[in-house]
Amino acid sequence: MEHWNAELESMPWRDVERWQATQVDAFLPALRARSPLYARLHGAASPRVADLADLRALPFTTKDDLRTAQDAASADAPFGANQGVPSSAIVQALSSSGTTGRPLYYALTARDVETFADAIATVWFTAGIRENDVVAHLVGLPMVAGGLPYADGFRRVGATLCWLGGFPTERILREMRHLRVTALLATTSFALHLSEQWDAVGRETGIASRLRKVIGGGEPGLGQPELRRRIVDGLALTHLRETMGLGDVIPSMWGECELEDGMHFNARRYVMLELIDPETGQALPWREGATGEIVYTAFARDATPVIRYRSRDHAAVVAMGCACGRTGPRIRCIGRTDDMLIYKGMNVFPTAIRDLVVKRFAGRIEPMLRLWKARRDQVRFDQPIEVDVEASAALDDSARATLAREIEDVVRSQLQVRIAVTVLERGGLPRGVYKNAIAAVREV
Ligand SMILES: [Zn+2]
Repeated sequence: MEHWNAELESMPWRDVERWQATQVDAFLPALRARSPLYARLHGAASPRVADLADLRALPFTTKDDLRTAQDAASADAPFGANQGVPSSAIVQALSSSGTTGRPLYYALTARDVETFADAIATVWFTAGIRENDVVAHLVGLPMVAGGLPYADGFRRVGATLCWLGGFPTERILREMRHLRVTALLATTSFALHLSEQWDAVGRETGIASRLRKVIGGGEPGLGQPELRRRIVDGLALTHLRETMGLGDVIPSMWGECELEDGMHFNARRYVMLELIDPETGQALPWREGATGEIVYTAFARDATPVIRYRSRDHAAVVAMGCACGRTGPRIRCIGRTDDMLIYKGMNVFPTAIRDLVVKRFAGRIEPMLRLWKARRDQVRFDQPIEVDVEASAALDDSARATLAREIEDVVRSQLQVRIAVTVLERGGLPRGVYKNAIAAVREV
């Protein structure tokens, strides 16, 4: 078995947590002196962290805490109340995407850059990237968390970085053939889109595809066998690996190994994990079948650290440990708090509806759906949630109506949520917008 960091990756999980607690313990006292945010959040307490139980005595940090901290930006501290080092020690600024409100900025010291590069390289290595790979990096903006940090991770592994993001799509596809790209980092949407275009690019350039590895991330979806099969077949892949991270902590921390059955935690050298009940904040044990929100403590971040940070990412634990030798939780992301809907008091993720429907109706509908909201921020539904799916074959009106009722019944009985389904003709759902299509906003 090949591991990037064999000692920590194969260490019994209990021992990993014990070692991490010593790191957190060493990190915290100085943090309160460096960061006005943590001086305030942790108060006068002098926390000793001998184990996870001690860590849990400290308050959570939320996105709102980080926003408030950023509002305190000044000429001396442009990153605000969580700037933990003098500005002269900062070598890089990163920005959140800003899709949900004003962007948040993160700062990196030279040591933070090293931390990011090593953690992200661990993910890429786990996901099968090697030094003989030629990797297409399609993120167009260097300043976002998936920009320069991801690129650094690829170079750290020793792969050939081809930063094609920013070029028009047509050019990206041609360059990928000319550069003999073997690996690609893409959103699930883009991978699906590419799988339907890739042959045409080959005909145009006359160059055979050498693409064999796709790392997918940025949105849930690769947990679905039907979607995986379609991408693997469409691109003739040997590897399709899911990855996940968080810009506020480290932009990529989780990655799948050769089993392709849930993501390993690859940032254990720098970040401690917790699983909590998102409603009560109570700790949940890491064990097979558990679901909850992931909380991160970054004990090696100097410039803008986060302690007990609520990720709003909900995970399901596929297993503890793995045949590949890596220890600890192996997870799938089941959705984000921000995406959760409430139908008559019942919580449901759009991805849960999609995963159920796509699995149960595989072969009859395409592996995606579109869920309509009246407003972008609509969370509560008192009427059945409107959902569009796309038929895989030509159906007449009555067959489409019958299929729609079948889908509604399955969702009602399995998830206790009512949906109102419209079955569209083949090609009726927009391609390449897999992520956005999950919750579209109807003009009203
Ligand atoms: Zn594994």
